[in-house]
Amino acid sequence: MSHRVTGGCLCGAVRFRAVLADRSLRVCACTQCLRQNSGPWFDLPSVQGIEWQGAVATYRSSPGHLRGFCATCGSTLYWHREGQSPALSHGALDDRDGFALTDFEHQDTRPDAYRVVAATEGVA
Ligand SMILES: [Zn+2]
Ligand SMILES: [Zn+2]
Repeated sequence: MSHRVTGGCLCGAVRFRAVLADRSLRVCACTQCLRQNSGPWFDLPSVQGIEWQGAVATYRSSPGHLRGFCATCGSTLYWHREGQSPALSHGALDDRDGFALTDFEHQDTRPDAYRVVAATEGVA
């Protein structure tokens, strides 16, 4: 069953509607996500389609990887591995409830103070 979600950036200049295959939630603690977001990055990896309104800027953070953000306020909106669907920001959603953490990326670079993020999942 697919899920419809809506969201946008901090200033409201960018809005989106998306369809998700499921309610899975991924957290990434790689050094790039930490620098861009001042903490672990939570995204939705099962996006099947997105409609955007407003100006989304992109930054190529490494070969084959784009990061989308609001051109006005800088809010992070997605992480995109080229050839796959963009993974939307969980924090940008209007309704953030009802998701389940299923995927823990780059926990080797997660700052020790963030241990609480994965504590309920048994990740050391
Ligand atoms: Zn904005
Ligand atoms: Zn990352």
